[in-house]
Amino acid sequence: MKLGIYPGTFDPFTNGHLDLVVRGIRIFDELVIAVAPSTNKKPLFTLEERIALIKESVADLKNVRVDIFSSLLVDYVKGKGGTAILRGLRAVSDFEYELQIALMNRRLDHDSETVFMMPSEEYSFLSSTIVKEVASFGGSVSGLVPPPVEKALREKYGK
Ligand code: ADP
Repeated sequence: MKLGIYPGTFDPFTNGHLDLVVRGIRIFDELVIAVAPSTNKKPLFTLEERIALIKESVADLKNVRVDIFSSLLVDYVKGKGGTAILRGLRAVSDFEYELQIALMNRRLDHDSETVFMMPSEEYSFLSSTIVKEVASFGGSVSGLVPPPVEKALREKYGK
């Protein structure tokens, strides 16, 4: 059984993340979306809110689970019996940072493997940060985030 672990902050979950999950379950038998508290990033949504939004957004997908991880990622992956870490590669700008993380993870655990997948072109420039920026000024993020996230952003910003 090939288990993929897709870690991230998901503040909030976007259609780019969803695109990657859908691609991920084509190559893994099961996928765990592992949400990091990332308190140092001062997330807009609490950990519980982020988890609830992801669960609603992937409710129709089989073999996808949502979990929390707050330890070293390689330890979490090992503990779960994960086969590989799944990460997204968008524009060139992701590459250096992602390579650094993947190689550090391998240094910490030489069996650690990271699988990179590219989202559909339309999500290649999409990030949680830009979605929050647009939503904070009352701009429409329809089509960029799942409907429950769109609603939650409107409520958060009172728009
Ligand atoms: P982190 O704090 O770990 O960077 P994110 O929630 O920002 O967490 O991202 C989690 C993963 O999802 C990363 O591998 C990131 O490259 C990927 N990702 C983010 N946005 C997109 C997108 N639009 N398309 C594909 N992958 C994405």
